[in-house]
Amino acid sequence: MAEPIVQRKVLVIDDSPACRAIVCAMLRSHGWLTVEAGDGEMGAELAVSTSFDAIVCDHHMNGITGTQLCRLLSADERTSKTPVVVLTATSTRRGLFWAIESGASAYLAKSELRRLPSLLDQLSRQPRISNVSIQSRAGGRSVAARLGHLLDATLFESVLRGRVRGIAALESTMGGAFRRVASLLGSILEFRWCAIALRGHRDQVWMMHSGSDAEAEREAILGLGAGRDALVERIEEEQCAPRSARERVEVRAIEFGEETIGSIAIAAADQSLSSADAAVLDWVAAELPAVLQLTLLLEQTTKHAMSDELTGIANRRAARDFLERSVVSARRNAHEVSVAMLDIDHFKRVNDGFGHDVGDVVLRKVAATLAAAVRRSDLVARWGGEEFLLVFPQTGEEGARLVCERIRARIEGLGLAQVRVGLSVSASMGVAMLGDDGPDGVLRRADEALYCAKQSGRNRVIVDSERYSKSA
Ligand code: GH3
Ligand code: MG
Ligand code: MG
Repeated sequence: MAEPIVQRKVLVIDDSPACRAIVCAMLRSHGWLTVEAGDGEMGAELAVSTSFDAIVCDHHMNGITGTQLCRLLSADERTSKTPVVVLTATSTRRGLFWAIESGASAYLAKSELRRLPSLLDQLSRQPRISNVSIQSRAGGRSVAARLGHLLDATLFESVLRGRVRGIAALESTMGGAFRRVASLLGSILEFRWCAIALRGHRDQVWMMHSGSDAEAEREAILGLGAGRDALVERIEEEQCAPRSARERVEVRAIEFGEETIGSIAIAAADQSLSSADAAVLDWVAAELPAVLQLTLLLEQTTKHAMSDELTGIANRRAARDFLERSVVSARRNAHEVSVAMLDIDHFKRVNDGFGHDVGDVVLRKVAATLAAAVRRSDLVARWGGEEFLLVFPQTGEEGARLVCERIRARIEGLGLAQVRVGLSVSASMGVAMLGDDGPDGVLRRADEALYCAKQSGRNRVIVDSERYSKSA
């Protein structure tokens, strides 16, 4: 038995009766049942109240335009799968771009009208894909109100996505980028904690929570599926919501191409995260891969340019930067700054006696000894060869001398005989405090004090001011 012929139905929307008549006549001759609408508003009402196999609409109409209509139809679950062809009298690249962005399936110049029947055949056979996200069924309200709501929602999404993307240009560290992402989310949603994990040989986690929330870290690591040995960087933010009985953890994957590079999670203050709030999290997660990849790259490049390859501590360039910033801050706040120049004694003998590789081991051990001996706010850098620079912000000459004396003793007692029998080193240091002569002046005086330490027998710390009293 032959299958019954179901006549396909097309809605033709155009504010020109003449155009409508031509399009309809053509489609009818190809077996379509046609329904007409004289403007976008009527078209939108018809489209949601009756089911159509395809919609053809004019691009430029009085009132609601073809592209606005496309957006409306794509965002409504009742019409999101119906193919829409936008017809235009003036075909431009920009018009094509915007029609497709707005959810049109095709954009056709009226001069190409003869292609319409075959285009509709083709479109009504293939599944409809649109890049407009479905908002839901917008019942009841007028077309103008629905359109207004939709444009506002689209603008909101686009502004939010733009803000997330913009973070890449504002931050050069992952901690800074995370803080901005979490603050942005926190200005829209309420959460008790927010965290981002990045997968690596050791997972890294950044999280924001209130300082008094002891449980948050364990929950975040669990929620993100991060390894138990993950490196966690915490940001305390007292604005985070308190624990609530209704809260729930929401997780989104952060995907770069095919690969999941991490995830973002929040402990949402309310169990029933609204669909609007869930969408916010989706959009942020969708923009994160590019932002995080860019920030990571920048962070690594900066680190590379600022650190010494052999020892991993700051290099000369980073040391100069740090010293200059310390000097500015010291002058502004009337603080003291001291520096110390260190040079390993008779280092040539280490290289000559034990080989260059052993010399390198010694340099690494000395660097690690320096890094471990100072405060986090101090700087330890390799100045060059076997010379190191230390910068002590908010520290006077006497304070610096005490630290340097401790360092000198630790280097002498490094226990290098375990590396090679008979190997030991000592170091000489010169200390100076910032004066009116600025960064260059303090470096020069530290160097002169170091020279003095070498001259007076090595393995000792000489302070700049003491040089004058000694030579006096
Ligand atoms: P002094 O006590 O007067 O400072 O004597 P010294 O031998 O330490 O001084 P000198 O400046 O004559 O020699 C420094 C040596 O440090 C020479 C150089 O080959 C060595 N050196 C510089 N950079 C490196 C490095 O990266 N690795 C190794 N193994 N040796 C280095
Ligand atoms: Mg030297
Ligand atoms: Mg030396």
